[in-house]
Amino acid sequence: MAYARDDIDLVRDKTDLVELASEITKVRRSGRSTMAVCPFHSEKTPSLSIDGGRGLYHCFGCGKSGDVYRWVQETQGLDFAGAVEFLARRAGVTLKVDPEAAKRRSRREELVDVTARAVRFYMNRLKTASDAGPARAYLRGRGYNADVVDQFSLGYSPDEWDELVKHLRDDGVKDEAMIKSGLASRSSRGSLIDRFRGRVMFPIFDVRGDAVGFGARILEGDGPKYLNSSESPIYHKSRLLYGLNWAKSEIVRSDTSVVVEGYTDVIAMHLAGMPVAVATCGTALGEDHLDLLRRFSERVVFAFDADEAGAEAALRGFDRSVPGDLDLRVAVLPEGKDPADVVAAGDVDKLRSAVDESQPLLKFRIESELAKYNLDEPEARTKAVRAAGAVIGLHPDPVTRHEYAVLVSRDTGVDLKFVEAAMRRTGSTSREAPPPDDGFGGDGAGPQPYRSGTFRTETELLRLMLANDERLASVELSRDLFLSDVTIEAYDKVAGIVSGLAPGEEPDLGSALGSDDSPSGALLATVALDATPLADPEDLVGLLEVAVIDTRIADVRSQLQKTEDTSDGQGYSELLQQLVGLEQQKRELRSER
Ligand SMILES: [Zn+2]
Repeated sequence: MAYARDDIDLVRDKTDLVELASEITKVRRSGRSTMAVCPFHSEKTPSLSIDGGRGLYHCFGCGKSGDVYRWVQETQGLDFAGAVEFLARRAGVTLKVDPEAAKRRSRREELVDVTARAVRFYMNRLKTASDAGPARAYLRGRGYNADVVDQFSLGYSPDEWDELVKHLRDDGVKDEAMIKSGLASRSSRGSLIDRFRGRVMFPIFDVRGDAVGFGARILEGDGPKYLNSSESPIYHKSRLLYGLNWAKSEIVRSDTSVVVEGYTDVIAMHLAGMPVAVATCGTALGEDHLDLLRRFSERVVFAFDADEAGAEAALRGFDRSVPGDLDLRVAVLPEGKDPADVVAAGDVDKLRSAVDESQPLLKFRIESELAKYNLDEPEARTKAVRAAGAVIGLHPDPVTRHEYAVLVSRDTGVDLKFVEAAMRRTGSTSREAPPPDDGFGGDGAGPQPYRSGTFRTETELLRLMLANDERLASVELSRDLFLSDVTIEAYDKVAGIVSGLAPGEEPDLGSALGSDDSPSGALLATVALDATPLADPEDLVGLLEVAVIDTRIADVRSQLQKTEDTSDGQGYSELLQQLVGLEQQKRELRSER
């Protein structure tokens, strides 16, 4: 929603970040700086510094920083507009919106209102109606008492044609709103009928806590076990996670979310004192779900029954690539059990330790691939290495890929270079930088670990420059992208060699590099001999831009740390502002990629 710039500034001015922070965490004022226990990572001594005057914060522990809006976005899981609305309400500011946006919003509010009425209707039926006996018995069988029903707003939809429709009409709700919100539909004879009949109702809330749809479990008779709301202007299953509204603050605090399969698994984990569980609503976990989770935690743990096809299906979303910025993990549960079973059996501790001891998703998948083969047989080993190589190739980070290749080589006894060859073949279709090769100064004993990811990226870019690759014309190259003395020097040399050449025209490297035995010359000579496929210059430049900002962030942070002990409030504020700006730039760069 587009709000007026001056409104946004006014709300910012009226908001006291220190007060806002003190609502969710421990805050200690000392002189002009205020320190708080950081809600974004787990800690006991405060390392989050708040500049109340400017409304900025920065954590020395985990590096998170931002302004009042960022704070609300991160702690409450709202988008920017949501954060503006939240703080405006708090500050008593009426926001000006353009009329189109206002109309859209009032439509949303109407549908949310109708859904909330339905939630209350179903709850009431569950608690009081005589025909809800089987539903109450089902919930009791699950160990849910009245408190649980209230906490999760559970309900029962009567096994009649139009009980909800009649109720909502009495409330003055228009037929069109019932259809739009997915609660009712027209029958072939033209009458309006309830979508959900004879089912236990699990209302699904969006991240703000508004009920937007339902998952409905059948009690008896034919039909799908679970029937979910159909897509509506407020219910988008690809962007909803059941339980996130209850789990988000604990997910932020523990930097861990746990993805389970069903609504009852979510509830079981909440009741077992692990309120970090979420579930998709009748669909596989997709990119949009991960974007949602990314806002709250870096660590995402999948807790599925290891046996079931469901686990395979849920992980299928990662068949083409895995996101490198999330710590995706798998918690292995006792065989044949899902989290709800484990809790029902009284084994809450087992569930907790399964989450604590979760292993990286890639490691889990590689090991399941290897387990399919008899590694004593040469042919089976070949197949196993190919299968594992394909999985490793999914990861965008070359260093991580290398680490896994070493692991597979060790587990199979197959030489590392064959493992890396297997993953190179599968990885070559991806648009990521090429997988590792022999590196520099290889002594024939296999690839050397990279000196650092950034150094590696810089040399890849130098290699493209040496080849005078045509694609370089479309990226912005500059020596500022290079961080080490030797690569900066090498950059200057290559720039000299290729200057005056048309894009794609091959430079005469022999004469240019032949007699140069300085470190940068030696580097270029090695780079020039590397015959592996060239990476996409745009990817490399993107990586380096982030690396450059990271260096500046580290620099400003160390200055900040020094200033903190002095009384230079002005200097401190300026540094903090710089830092927030850099973090912002970094986020923007990341989201472009
Ligand atoms: Zn922190």
